Amino acid sequence: MEDPVDEALKLIQSKPEGVLQSELWKELGVDSRKCSRIVKKLEESELIDRIEFKKEGIKTYLLKARQMPVNPSDLLAGDELIPCICCELECVVEECHPLMDWMYQLAIVQNTEEPV
Ligand code: SF4
Repeated sequence: MEDPVDEALKLIQSKPEGVLQSELWKELGVDSRKCSRIVKKLEESELIDRIEFKKEGIKTYLLKARQMPVNPSDLLAGDELIPCICCELECVVEECHPLMDWMYQLAIVQNTEEPV
């Protein structure tokens, strides 16, 4: 079973417009008190922002994932740059051959690296 904090973070990250805290606990299947503790953890870890929000006159919070800086080395498989940079194809990730080829290259690079 997935850690509810990780599950909450994934859910919030999947919605760029944000998630209302008053709806998050229902989606997670936990009670509102447990949801508050999860949200507090994520906020203290600086992974999300918690913004005051009123829905139908009731105060709640809009939870938005913070943008994390990308480590440039994560975009390389050896010296091959991920094809999504400057891609002009119509994107269907599940069927993308350039991306699959790049991931294959990444697996080769990772399996041939010397253990530290
Ligand atoms: S997944 Fe494929 S189609 Fe989509 S942006 Fe990346 S390279 Fe382009």
